[in-house]
Amino acid sequence: DQNKFQAIISHCKEYGFIFQSSEIYDGLSAVYDYGQYGAELKKNIRDYWWKSMTQMHENIVGIDSAIFMHPTIWKASGHVDNFSDPMIDNKDSNKRYRVDHLIEGFAETLAADAAAALIADMEALLKENDFAGLKKLIEDNQIKCAVSGTVNWTDVRQFNLMFSTQLGSVSEEASEIYLRPETAQGIFVNFLNVQKTGRMKIPFGIAQVGKAFRNEIVARQFVFRMREFEQMEMQFFIRPGTQKEWYAYWKEERMKWHQSLGLNPANLQYHDHVKLAHYADAAVDIEYNFPIGFKEVEGIHSRTDFDLSQHQKFSGKKMQYFDPEINQNYIPYVIETSIGLDRCCLMILSESYEEQDLSTADKQDSRVVLKFPAKLAPIKLAIFPLTKKDGLPEIAKELMASCKTSFYCFYEEKDAIGKRYRRQDAIGTPFCVTIDHQTKEDGTVTIRYRDTMEQERIPLAQVKEMVMRKIME
Ligand code: ATP
Repeated sequence: DQNKFQAIISHCKEYGFIFQSSEIYDGLSAVYDYGQYGAELKKNIRDYWWKSMTQMHENIVGIDSAIFMHPTIWKASGHVDNFSDPMIDNKDSNKRYRVDHLIEGFAETLAADAAAALIADMEALLKENDFAGLKKLIEDNQIKCAVSGTVNWTDVRQFNLMFSTQLGSVSEEASEIYLRPETAQGIFVNFLNVQKTGRMKIPFGIAQVGKAFRNEIVARQFVFRMREFEQMEMQFFIRPGTQKEWYAYWKEERMKWHQSLGLNPANLQYHDHVKLAHYADAAVDIEYNFPIGFKEVEGIHSRTDFDLSQHQKFSGKKMQYFDPEINQNYIPYVIETSIGLDRCCLMILSESYEEQDLSTADKQDSRVVLKFPAKLAPIKLAIFPLTKKDGLPEIAKELMASCKTSFYCFYEEKDAIGKRYRRQDAIGTPFCVTIDHQTKEDGTVTIRYRDTMEQERIPLAQVKEMVMRKIME
């Protein structure tokens, strides 16, 4: 549903969630800035992931490694040679395509059987890196899929997705380095540091969150595919031979995490990889049903001992672990969980966004509401004095002072209460309280719930505790 997708993009801009980067200069393609509420939402998701991974798992610790790394790391990891997508240009329109996206687009116009056959053919050719075959597949299918006119394609070629830059001044010996295309390698190269200093015993994990950069061939679909984005990754180090069990464990554990965000289980699915990356012996995606269809949000990969072995080979350092239980040295195997924070924000926005018609017989009315889980909402509680006088703002500000040390609150005294409620709905604030004249008499306030729009009176003294309880759920 492209309309819903466009509506979400407009809403994000209008209410301070996500802006096009460098907008006053007409923008920068596939780069986005998070505004005041987007930054809070993103932080809340990041914190929730971090806590679930580290605090909630006694054998997982978090690190924060640098974006710049020794260039040989990307040789060892295979990114210099393999981190590329096949692309093709249309000579008539001068448009560039990622080959797999182009063919997937063709498949969408076909009946289910034919589409599945086309995708299977594509995956087989991709696996063999058969570029001539891929070009032929495109030419054969453009007619079937009604791509109009004669289409004049270039050959298929590889396009490396890494950004490079120079480290050091020109007069010194400058060396070419890369902006990391994933955070995982920062974990692998710190494996020994963390294992030794943390006296970690296998199985154990290392988590980190940070920016990654990819020069995507066609970057579109809002924050789904960006050139600068944030990843939340965890590498779980295990004894060789136990990868099947741990892969199954993390596959399930991560799906549970997604469900704990309040997502409808019907909007989540697994997608097994047919074409495995050069480092993996099993891989699955968790996909979410975005308004633009089911798409990858997270990958779970069984990476064998590929990365640590490569770093041992290229650095000359022993990337080994002595396992006291079996009295043996080995290079650990790894299960990775890798999720995009921006895609996760888009997932939560897509799930939460609702346009509601609230018209009654005598009045047209509607609202846009973001039904965020309370723990992820940018603002938890809005506090409104009914009027600007009679001592009501004083009581409201006192409540504000007592709550803001514990969670994010918003204070407002302008406009009619109904209007104020609607503005909070649009940014997903789960609770609003109004201080009125009755508050002065009996110490109660009106609390209004975002999703049901129901209102009830509760003691002022209970507001803070109630909100605290809801955001811990
Ligand atoms: P895709 O097939 O969509 O290009 P990928 O399989 O290359 O993604 P991974 O390398 O497995 O992605 O990266 C792990 C996670 O990082 C993805 O599941 C996704 O959430 C996120 N991610 C990857 N590339 C981007 C991007 N360009 N913009 C935003 N998030 C991204």
